[in-house]
Amino acid sequence: MAFHVMLVPTLSCPARCSYCWSSEVGSPVMNIETIKEVVEWLKDFKKEPVTFTFHGGEPLLAGADFYRQALPLLAEGLSHLKTAFALQSNLWVLTPELAQILAKYNIPIGSSLDGPQELNDLQRGKGYFEKTMKGYEIAKANGLKVSFICTFTKHSVKQKEEIFNFFLENGYNLKLHPALPSLRTDEPEKWALDPEEYGKLLIYLMDKYLENLGKIEIMNIDHLCKAYFTGRGTVCTFVDCMGSTFAVGPEGNIYPCYRFIGMPEYIMGNVRDHPSEADLARSDAWKLMHQYKDHVDKECGSCTNIKFCRGGCPYNAIVPTGGKIEGVDPHCKAYKMVFKEITDRANEEMFGSFGMDPFQPAQRRSARPSIMSLINKR
Ligand code: SF4
Ligand code: SF4
Repeated sequence: MAFHVMLVPTLSCPARCSYCWSSEVGSPVMNIETIKEVVEWLKDFKKEPVTFTFHGGEPLLAGADFYRQALPLLAEGLSHLKTAFALQSNLWVLTPELAQILAKYNIPIGSSLDGPQELNDLQRGKGYFEKTMKGYEIAKANGLKVSFICTFTKHSVKQKEEIFNFFLENGYNLKLHPALPSLRTDEPEKWALDPEEYGKLLIYLMDKYLENLGKIEIMNIDHLCKAYFTGRGTVCTFVDCMGSTFAVGPEGNIYPCYRFIGMPEYIMGNVRDHPSEADLARSDAWKLMHQYKDHVDKECGSCTNIKFCRGGCPYNAIVPTGGKIEGVDPHCKAYKMVFKEITDRANEEMFGSFGMDPFQPAQRRSARPSIMSLINKR
């Protein structure tokens, strides 16, 4: 199975999004020696193909010289691992020079926009929208493919229709992200999206997606349906990510995922020591991640979604409780709601009235768009 290494060149970021939990003012920037150590570390680490995602903070702050050297070092030094790349950036500091370097490696970019300018800038800071769109134009002009991640907060979920229409009308594909409690502020829940609201949002977007099939892609809905119908998760949230995902911070420390970067208790090793999997497995963070997996087997054992949900994201479950495993991903409620909706719709479409809510008016049922059309699209 392919594995995933997230490279975080810095936790610094020029933006100041209200709900951010992953940037750090004055964070160091990775130097090219660390990339050389990554190559040495991974040469014999695993035999499977590897995808590198540059993440942040804002990864492009590392500059053109960094990418000019890092990309060939990784691609050629690890050519036996069929390296692929991706990048997550707000695009503010993208220059034509940087775009050309990234385009040589066909790097797909994920960027962030929360909807129309006014709403986006309310959540992400004044001027954000314009700076991202300027970078987007540079990316497009250089043949780079950009998809947008839209963070829905407690505030913006009330404008879900306006947000959906913004993405539809502009022809942008959409991946949504629920705002998480920010553990770096005094009010962690201020922007966080409540799990039930998140579940309702997913079901709402499923309807909108089906009504507009062929005009927009909503990646989360694709992933949820694919997971349900194949019985296997296709994104990290819905598989056991431990052991197949790693992240390397600016100073070469290795963590289970980029979300843990900057938290010393989650360091599993450092790339300069070229640790094997067995070495990493001796760290407390590795053990905790695997304890979470065992916990999911027990706590989710009777849930019909277990095969393609796997207890959701361990970060969401472990970090807000200060490193104690007290339950599964708090978004469980949302996952149950959306998987039940997919099950009911599939049953309804395949077996007529079987599995339907008898109290639901027949007219409304038949008016619903068909979920099978989404499956056939895949
Ligand atoms: S900790 Fe969460 S975000 Fe990170 S790889 Fe695992 S599932 Fe994905
Ligand atoms: S829906 Fe909830 S109970 Fe079911 S597998 Fe996912 S996290 Fe566990």
